[in-house]
Amino acid sequence: MLQKLHELKEKALQALEMVSDSDELDGWRVGHLGRKSELNSILRNVGQLIPEERPAVGRLANQVKLALEVAYDDKAEALKRQELERALREQRSDVTLPGRPVSVGRLHLSTQTLREIYAIFGAMGFQVYESPDVETDELNFGLLNMPPHHPARDMWDTFWISDEVLLRTHTSPGQIRVMRERYPEPIRVILPGKCYRYEQITARSEHQFYQVEGLAVGHAITMTDLIGTLSEFARRFYGPDRRIRIRGSYFPFTEPSIEADMDCILCGGEGCRVCRYSGWLEVCGAGMVHPVVLRNGGYDPDEWSGFAFGFGVERPAMVKYSIDDIRLFYGNDLRFLRQF
Ligand SMILES: [Zn+2]
Repeated sequence: MLQKLHELKEKALQALEMVSDSDELDGWRVGHLGRKSELNSILRNVGQLIPEERPAVGRLANQVKLALEVAYDDKAEALKRQELERALREQRSDVTLPGRPVSVGRLHLSTQTLREIYAIFGAMGFQVYESPDVETDELNFGLLNMPPHHPARDMWDTFWISDEVLLRTHTSPGQIRVMRERYPEPIRVILPGKCYRYEQITARSEHQFYQVEGLAVGHAITMTDLIGTLSEFARRFYGPDRRIRIRGSYFPFTEPSIEADMDCILCGGEGCRVCRYSGWLEVCGAGMVHPVVLRNGGYDPDEWSGFAFGFGVERPAMVKYSIDDIRLFYGNDLRFLRQF
């Protein structure tokens, strides 16, 4: 019987060597340590042996049982470690894979266009002067030579906040602000910013848009300086071959007033859909600063003269990038905005 127990132990340990996963280990435990195992039946039947054999068989059977249990625990531990190592190996992070790209924002097309405009006028000696979006009636109209009865007010449909306060319809109130601040220095500034008009929104007009105004005030400023400045801007913004055409116009705050056109950048003057078959594109409204406006800014029109011009920011971008609907600028559609 003792011999049999030794053999049983050897066989069990050999079988344990062959176990390679936790299912097999379970099977081994049932077979060698379970209720129906040979070892268990020996232990159960020790009482039926002859008395001389009982102590030695009982002791050895218990030692074998303990040895198998210890071997089982060790094996279970080793298997667990192996499985963990395999899992780590199989699901290993590949540190050479490229990371997920961080999505980086970009400047809005209007902002990009504004910055381009700043750079061009900056090179010509113009500073950027910013003034408020919310203005008084006096600054938006009155001091710009449009007293309350003036019919030219009808040129701008206005968002009123109260009887005296409004959202500026143009950047021109900045002219009065900068003149009052800088007098008696000569002035060369551009006044960029958002303007608001109570208008039907269509492919060609928005109720909000950017405008850039220019103002130069000095002792001997003439129309020639104005035309030279506008031509230089057109060439730097649209390309070196651009030509400018001047037409007479009317604005309450300039005298004389002009409008500047540029030969169409798409057809070169031949006529196309973008220039509506005229060969010319409107660049801006401009003129010599009206004596009343100069005086309202604090400058004596007998000693000082100046020019002013103003143009939208979205329109030039639309021409440059062939965008046919101004609503895209404020539609917040990233598919559109990511193209620039
Ligand atoms: Zn054209």
